[in-house]
Amino acid sequence: MKVFKFGGASVNTIDRIEQVKNIISLYKNEKLVIIISAMGKTTNALEKVAESFYAGNKEEALQLFTIIKNQHLTTAKYLLVTYYNACAEHLNNFFTEAEWLLHDKPVREYDYYYDQVVSIGELLSTSIVSFYLNESGITNKWIDVRDIIRTDNNFRDANIDWNYTAKKVDELTVNSQPSTINMLITQGFIGSTDENESTTLGREGSDYTAAVFANLLNAENQTIWKDVEGVMNADPKQFPDAQLMPELSFDEVIEMAYYGAQVIHPKTIKPLQNKGIALHVKCFLDASLSGTIISKKSIKNLPPVIIIKQKQALMHLHSQDFSFVGEKPMSELYKMLGELNTKPNLIQTGAISLQLCLDDRSEKIEQLAALASNIFDVQVEKDLSLLTIRHYNNELLLKMTNDKQVILRQQTPETVQLIYKEV
Ligand code: ASP
Ligand code: MG
Repeated sequence: MKVFKFGGASVNTIDRIEQVKNIISLYKNEKLVIIISAMGKTTNALEKVAESFYAGNKEEALQLFTIIKNQHLTTAKYLLVTYYNACAEHLNNFFTEAEWLLHDKPVREYDYYYDQVVSIGELLSTSIVSFYLNESGITNKWIDVRDIIRTDNNFRDANIDWNYTAKKVDELTVNSQPSTINMLITQGFIGSTDENESTTLGREGSDYTAAVFANLLNAENQTIWKDVEGVMNADPKQFPDAQLMPELSFDEVIEMAYYGAQVIHPKTIKPLQNKGIALHVKCFLDASLSGTIISKKSIKNLPPVIIIKQKQALMHLHSQDFSFVGEKPMSELYKMLGELNTKPNLIQTGAISLQLCLDDRSEKIEQLAALASNIFDVQVEKDLSLLTIRHYNNELLLKMTNDKQVILRQQTPETVQLIYKEV
C-alpha cells in the first residue's frame, strides 16, 4: 500500500486535474490511498463564508458560497460527461449541508461553524476527482473520511482519536473492498467528532491526514505531490538561489516544519517516523524528477536551511513583585498554554521576566494575556517575524541580519533564531 497526497495547487485547474490523473495512472496496478486537499484557494474562500455568516451577514455568506458552488459545478462539467449528473447530485448533498447551516443564526462558537463550512472544500474536490478517474477508467472508491478519522471537538485544531480511527482503517481494508478496487480516494484535513460534527486538523493539515493513513496502514511509503521540485533549503519565492535537498532525515524536517517551513505540515513527521515510513516529496508537474526523500537515515553536510515565520507576537511577562520566574509561575504559565491549546515558538527566560514568541492569532493572544496578567505584568509586541537558520555560518548570519532590527536571539552551534520587527 502506498499513500499519495495531492495539495490544492494540484487540483487547481482542469489541466492540473488531468495531470493528476496521468500521475495516478502510472501507479494503476498498485494499492493506493489518495488524499486530496480542497481546490486552489477554496479553503480561504470558505473561511470568508464562515466569517460573513458569523458576523451576521447571511446574504453575503450565501452569495460567497454560491460562487464556490458554481466553480465546482463548472469544473465537474468540464471534466465529466457520463458521470456529470451523478457527480452533481453528490456535490449537491454537501451544498445542501452547508446552506442549511448558513440559513440558521449562529448560536455556538465561531470555530464550530468554521469547521462545518470549511470542511466542505475537501468533500467537493475529492468527489470530482473520484468521478473523473472512474470515468477515465481508473477504478476507485470515494470515501467520506469523516467516517474514519475520529477527533475530539477542539474545532480548527482537532486531535485524532487514534484507537477509534485505527479500528475504522482496519475495517476499511479488511471487510469492505472487493479485490478489484485498489484505489481509495478521500479527504485530507477533516475529521468528525463522535456526534458527527465535522472538524478540521489545522490549516494545511492534509499532509497529516495522509501520514495518519500511512501509519495505520503500515504503508510502504507516502508521497506528497507538490508544485515545487522537492524540499528546498529556503523559500524560492524569497530566495531565488534556493537549492533542492534530495535527501533529508525526519529529524531535520520536523525541525524545519516546526519553525515554519511551508513544505510539510509539522504534524506529518511523527506518524511516519514512528513506523519508519519514508516520505517522498515530488513534483506533480514533472513526475520524472526525483524530488526529496525523507527517512530515518541521517544526512550530513546540509546547506544552511533558512525559515521565516511571519505574523509573530512577542509576549513580555514580568514578575509583579520581583519574585523569580521559577518553576511555579512557569508551570502556571504552561497550564494556561495547555488550556488554550497554544504552543510558544520560542521562550527566553530571565530572573524576573520571560518572553514568549507565539503565532499572532489575535483572540488566543488576548486570552493568554488576560490569564497571564493574574501572575505577571504583560506586554505584547506585534508585527514580528521569527527567522530560523539551521546549519548556519557566520557570513550568512551577518548577511541575513545587517538590515534588521533584531529584538531577540537564541543560538546553538546548529541553529540560530532571531525575532525581528517586520518593516
Ligand atoms: N485545504 C486545507 C488548507 O488549505 C488543507 C490543506 O490544504 O492541506 O489549509
Ligand atoms: Mg493546501
